[in-house]
Amino acid sequence: MKKSTKAIHTPFSRRDAWDALQIPVYNSMAYEFDDAAYMSDVFAGKVIVPDYSRVLNPTVMHFEERVINLTGAREVSAFNSGMAAISAMLMSVASAGKNIVSSKHMFGNTYLLVTRTLERFGVEPRLVDLCNVSEVERAVDADTCCVFLESVTNPQTEVADTRELAKITKKWGIPLIADTTIIPFTEFDGRKIGLDFQVVSSTKYISGGATSLGGLIIDYGNFPTISERIKKEMVFNLGGYMTPQAAYMQVLGLETLDVRYKRQAQTAKEIAEFLESLPEVMSVGYIGLDSHPNHNLAKELYGDTAGAMVTFDLVDAESCYGFINRLKLIHRATNLFDNRSLAIHPYSTIFVTLSDEERREMDVRPTTVRLSIGLEDVEDLKADLKQAIDSKK
Ligand SMILES: *Cc1c(COP(=O)(O)O)cnc(C)c1O
Repeated sequence: MKKSTKAIHTPFSRRDAWDALQIPVYNSMAYEFDDAAYMSDVFAGKVIVPDYSRVLNPTVMHFEERVINLTGAREVSAFNSGMAAISAMLMSVASAGKNIVSSKHMFGNTYLLVTRTLERFGVEPRLVDLCNVSEVERAVDADTCCVFLESVTNPQTEVADTRELAKITKKWGIPLIADTTIIPFTEFDGRKIGLDFQVVSSTKYISGGATSLGGLIIDYGNFPTISERIKKEMVFNLGGYMTPQAAYMQVLGLETLDVRYKRQAQTAKEIAEFLESLPEVMSVGYIGLDSHPNHNLAKELYGDTAGAMVTFDLVDAESCYGFINRLKLIHRATNLFDNRSLAIHPYSTIFVTLSDEERREMDVRPTTVRLSIGLEDVEDLKADLKQAIDSKK
């Protein structure tokens, strides 16, 4: 079966009492057992059925099964946000005295998780240029617990070669972990490009209409000790497991992901080309453009589509503010891959609490606007962008 069929036709692990066609929201936090011995087997992990919804819930399990079916992963764990999945992932590999080799080009909260929160627990952040393989080789040592990257960095749109990084992590016997939120996992094979784990904010493409927060760890099963820690320690002890309501909405999102995503990626490409043609636009960041320095690499790794995040630079921050204020159709909002298009000035919002120097080092520029392209008609979007950029009217 092709993925768009699998997204809809993943069987339930048990027949529903009323043969419901869609997975019901099992809004029950506890489950009853017939006898004490069976109950003990469940608590001992010998039988995998729900006992308490902080650790296992039928609706969430079904969402996880659909993602397994779509990715070919060994295990999938759903959390109540992308950050809950990322923190559970990194806490499963890190411990005091270890280091995480990653980049300064990272989602704001992941950057703060690594450089502030985990650092406080004795984990050293080693932030290097992941596009420079010899620099990565020099950074990794016997205390490195993982190499962590983002598939397409936000907002820099940088792509590192995971196949090269995987050669290094394999040599050291450590996992290569990628946050692949920017291109959905239905578009590429994480295992083929060398990943051991993917983490995803399912708040984005999967929820689609910004209906629910969610996060996923997609685990290819190469590190059984880490898999065990995710399913047991992290889900049980941190309490970040997905809620049944969110899982229900994200199951619905998965069913339409393919059509929504293809349309959004196509529109984003047209928007990126349109922006490139405007004299007021200094540069456009979109991996789907031939002019993007990582265009070919991105295609090899992540396939023919290039996501629905487009960044562009205007001459100064004031022009960015003016542009954002004049938008009539595109919403001034954070979030990515909503059904409606969104615009934000990352420098003064997502990264505002960081110093000028830190933002410079992260290549978060005051001149950059980030767009998330939705499902509107491309001509309506172009018209709004054009009128908002034509400032000297
Ligand atoms: C949004 C996002 C996150 C965080 O996800 P939440 O669901 O908001 O917690 C992490 N990484 C990337 C690349 C994101 O875009």
